Amino acid sequence: MMFDIQSDSQVLRQGQFADYSDSFCEPIAMTSAYRFQSAEQAAARFSGAEPGHVYSRFTNPSVHVFEERVALLEAAEGAVAFASGMAALTAVMMAFAESGSNIVCSRDVFGTTLVALRSYFARFGVEVRVVGLMDYAAWEQAIDQQTRLVFVETPSNPMQDIVNIAVLARMAHAMNALLVVDNTLLTPIMQQPLLLGADLVLHSAGKYMDGQGRCVAGVVCGPLPLITPLRGVLRTLGFSLSPMNAWLLLKSLEMLSLRMVQINQSALQLASWLEHQQDVQAVYYSGLESHPCHTLACQQQAGFGGVFSFKAGTDRHDAWVFINALRLISIATNIGDTRSMVTHPASTTHGRLSAEERQQSGISENLVRLSIGLETSEDLIRDLAQALMQMRSARLPRSFTLQQSGALV
Ligand SMILES: *Cc1c(COP(=O)(O)O)cnc(C)c1O
Repeated sequence: MMFDIQSDSQVLRQGQFADYSDSFCEPIAMTSAYRFQSAEQAAARFSGAEPGHVYSRFTNPSVHVFEERVALLEAAEGAVAFASGMAALTAVMMAFAESGSNIVCSRDVFGTTLVALRSYFARFGVEVRVVGLMDYAAWEQAIDQQTRLVFVETPSNPMQDIVNIAVLARMAHAMNALLVVDNTLLTPIMQQPLLLGADLVLHSAGKYMDGQGRCVAGVVCGPLPLITPLRGVLRTLGFSLSPMNAWLLLKSLEMLSLRMVQINQSALQLASWLEHQQDVQAVYYSGLESHPCHTLACQQQAGFGGVFSFKAGTDRHDAWVFINALRLISIATNIGDTRSMVTHPASTTHGRLSAEERQQSGISENLVRLSIGLETSEDLIRDLAQALMQMRSARLPRSFTLQQSGALV
């Protein structure tokens, strides 16, 4: 029966639809709230007695689809999405660490991860112990009864050191600690840490998952007994992923596998090519047989990813000349875009570390990091080749440089 309302009220209701199930592409659920059929239903939703959405701080249809798809890819029972990778880490800490406990973390994790642990969580009485990724004796020693979380990123960025996830999981479980793996670099297409014994997998989802550099996002996957407390943290502390970003991500996931296979192939081609160039001292890519972790990489990974590094020339000057000479590859400190990017870690991502810490992590002044995108490998190799040539001519005596650069133009 019609219920007559004034046009000012009508304008709020006109064209409203309750059901968009006929739209083929997943709709973007830009909503903060949900309408309940009755007071009884509202109560049941809030108490959790009835499944369904309550409020977009912690449940939203678009975010939910993204979570379900990531869980599927990671072979997980569930997933919770967050506003960023750092928000995902914060949620893991809030859910599982406590004052008086400790967390053991590998040294070569994403820089901000260490800053978060040391500068913020340490203030709340969580001790942070840092261990070299492949130093198993040090892991054994650092993990004890007070350890709640063991946190690693494997392979490490940008040196591609790799830890045996199954071995580390056993060490963590022996002390009832949870092993958390940051799987941002490889994505579930190339590595599924839960199947190797990890308890939780974390992603900075704006990297390869989006793959197009359009948003910042994070997600954590794992078994339901661990996912439930994480959703509790999200519900209470509220670092929620926006439905718009969730939608971008869930569409991106449809082509994640295609992208990663192509990126992996290109990276392997480029790394192999670079290894044979004059003035390239070393290439750090676990897909190369020359890499110390190659055998382990082949065992626990289905690929090697698109981020690797190499030494250009002998010093910072050489590295910068090389970087500035690149025409196609962009200077950007991100990873996981469709477009290839180059970074000088010593002066950017690792610039806040002391010289000694940089040396410990293998970040030399001539180290250059590449994040390979979707351009053809032939174009990328041509760009690297011409930049190496310019670096070489910049190292020659000045008179020769002018001649040489004239010949190049
Ligand atoms: C970028 C990144 C993070 C942090 O994620 P944000 O989404 O930028 O907050 C964490 N881990 C790795 C490996 C990253 O590359």
